[in-house]
Amino acid sequence: MKITEHIEKAKGKTLFSFEIIPPMKGRNIQELYDNIDPLMEFNPPFIDVTTSREEYVYIDRDGLLDKKLTRMRPGTVGICASIKHKYDIDTVPHVLCGGFTREETEYLLIDCHYLGIDNVMALRGDAMREEKYFEPTKGGHVYALDLVKQIRDLNRGKYLHDVIETDDCAHFCIGVAGYPEKHLEAPSLKSDLIRLKEKVDAGAEYVVTQMFFDNQKYFDFVTAARSMGIEVPIIPGIKPIAVKRHLQLLPQVFRIDLPQDLIDAVDACTNNKQVRQVGIEWCAAQSNELKAAGVPVLHYYSMGKSDNIKAIAEQVF
Ligand code: FAD
Repeated sequence: MKITEHIEKAKGKTLFSFEIIPPMKGRNIQELYDNIDPLMEFNPPFIDVTTSREEYVYIDRDGLLDKKLTRMRPGTVGICASIKHKYDIDTVPHVLCGGFTREETEYLLIDCHYLGIDNVMALRGDAMREEKYFEPTKGGHVYALDLVKQIRDLNRGKYLHDVIETDDCAHFCIGVAGYPEKHLEAPSLKSDLIRLKEKVDAGAEYVVTQMFFDNQKYFDFVTAARSMGIEVPIIPGIKPIAVKRHLQLLPQVFRIDLPQDLIDAVDACTNNKQVRQVGIEWCAAQSNELKAAGVPVLHYYSMGKSDNIKAIAEQVF
């Protein structure tokens, strides 16, 4: 079922959902299930599965380093299919511009269609670890907007190199990313919102936000988006702080601000167990306020760990 249909069906009730990351290559999928199981009591209608960018590894061959490109956390579509099959819920694979040619993307989408996956998140992807800025892959898309257009075309039976007369078109519901504190490369929040509107006008049916720790940022973002004519659901994506290092890491990686009260509370902790508890309390308070404001879904960035998300959900759902 489409995410937008889940939201309609809920008739104003806030839904619970979360995002997971595939395990490192060679690890067992059971680890994922062990972290999903405790969250199933909160009835997530869907789970997102991220896609990781490829990266370079250096293999020592008799003293000479051989540079190879690899993906450390492969398996997004397979994991989506296995979760869908095991729990009978919808899964949302993240589809990236970076690291994929348009043809590879088409084949991936065809796999998703065969597997009965109804939703996809269309994302540009981050720069590779070695790159300062995002470099488009040869033969791949430059912006998420182009990916949205490819998926929309496929929904109409328009493949890359053929228009296929078919009564079995995909009907992917397309999600895209939005940034309450603007995307780190955008020159202003307004210009980033103009880009977001382009994605929605091209066919995106819902938005999931980057994490934020001050709800006012989300409320202002929604107001600004609505004033520009972006009418689709805007799902808040939130994450509990889990370790002290997040105070430096999250602003550095995502260019987001942390509220001073949260910084002070984390600074006062003497170990990461206390930090995890502060993160739970902060995120639960955020969640309750967002829920009271009537957000359609609370979407948690779980990073594959469920104990803190469960502790939050118990206080909210
Ligand atoms: P875009 O919408 O393409 O925007 C990228 C930048 O380009 C923005 O600054 C935008 O303002 C600008 N822009 C857009 N169009 C134009 C144009 N025509 N001309 C000039 N500038 C333009 N990353 C992963 O690698 N894997 C994941 O699974 C993943 N999941 C995510 C899930 C969510 C909910 C979010 C919020 C982010 C996720 N990301 C993921 C991170 C995301 O890939 C990065 O933030 C990336 O840098 C931007 O992706 P985007 O889809 O927002 O890009």
